[in-house]
Amino acid sequence: MNNKDLNEFKKILNEKKDILLKSVDHKKQKDLQEPVVGDEIDAAGDSEEKELIFGLTDNERVMLDSIESALHKIEHNKYGICERCTCKIPIERLKAMPYARYCIKCQPKFEPKK
Ligand SMILES: [Zn+2]
Repeated sequence: MNNKDLNEFKKILNEKKDILLKSVDHKKQKDLQEPVVGDEIDAAGDSEEKELIFGLTDNERVMLDSIESALHKIEHNKYGICERCTCKIPIERLKAMPYARYCIKCQPKFEPKK
């Protein structure tokens, strides 16, 4: 991979990181604004919404982790290399998923079993 591509991925990853951190910040602020005493009228809907937010936060944490790892790899000239089999991840895959840690063959081994 050439430097131009690397810089491009670095830019995209930093942007994604910014957006993620901002949305996490936003959610934290929203949480703080919530009254301590819950309103019982819409309790069901409220907890449903909270579950959704928690779910997103988990995903975001995983994604943030992958982004940090990808940025680290760019700095150490290891970007685009599968963390498991050390093959080169095709650039098309990186373009679709710049924070990909594994190649297509290895990825399913790390996805939670359904
Ligand atoms: Zn692999």
